[in-house]
Amino acid sequence: MEMMKAFIGKVVLVTGGTSGIGRATAIAFAQEGASVVVVGRRESEGAESVALIEQAGGKGLFVQADVSIEDDVAAMVAKTLESFGKLDFAFNNAGIFLESAPITEVTQDTIDRILAINVRGVALCLKHEIPAILKSGGGGIVNTASFLGIHPHPGSAIYNASKFATIGLTKSAALEFASQGVRVNAICPGVIETPMNEEYRQDAQGRAALNSMQPLGRIGHPEEIAAAVLYLCSPKAGFVTGTTLSVDGGIAI
Ligand code: NAD
Repeated sequence: MEMMKAFIGKVVLVTGGTSGIGRATAIAFAQEGASVVVVGRRESEGAESVALIEQAGGKGLFVQADVSIEDDVAAMVAKTLESFGKLDFAFNNAGIFLESAPITEVTQDTIDRILAINVRGVALCLKHEIPAILKSGGGGIVNTASFLGIHPHPGSAIYNASKFATIGLTKSAALEFASQGVRVNAICPGVIETPMNEEYRQDAQGRAALNSMQPLGRIGHPEEIAAAVLYLCSPKAGFVTGTTLSVDGGIAI
């Protein structure tokens, strides 16, 4: 007998679902029976994600939105409710990595762009998703932080700060809504094979350097992050809130 799928009848929203970790997680939720709203900026990649969700047996919808703009975030939640009638879970995963330089070389534009998407974006998503989740009787949110939100490395001070902030937002929201049945957790990936670090992986030397950063000796796969996100949203994690779950090959030890 086929095992009962874990997210049948559930509606999940995934930001940055047009590639990498977000797309893999959208597909994993669909495999478990969920309806998935994929949020991102690129329409063609969004359509591809929806096709993959449908192939996996779920219902999918692409909503074009920039998470750093409040009107877009409000509209993304409204479209979710319009199309699927409710919201149970959200994976706030959209993010950017821009710097590879010491803080003395960082420009104001870089600071503003990273914070707008990685911090303001997560804050706006929490603001607009939580009321919808409350209306469906509770649920959960997972925010994508990073190993760099726990254990900073030199050369990415603003990104590090943005991911520390993601963890701060996660803990604050978890405390504010714990009594109302909304669990909020963060995931801290190590180096994962996605478009974000494609250029570093192009030559054998860069790839070896990324592999050796993790005590487990390899970079991770987006599906390994997806599995942890599904766990945090599942009833198995019913007593888990405000935590940061590292899925990082040991890099933050
Ligand atoms: P990715 O570049 O493939 O995915 C990032 C996604 O976010 C893309 O779909 C992009 O379109 C979307 N996005 C960016 N800005 C947006 C905006 N303003 N509005 C809406 N969508 C936006 O890379 P990824 O590795 O899958 O990244 C996903 C998350 O994981 C990010 O938050 C990243 O910081 C984090 N992360 C990645 C790694 C890694 O090694 N890949 C490690 C730790 C944390």
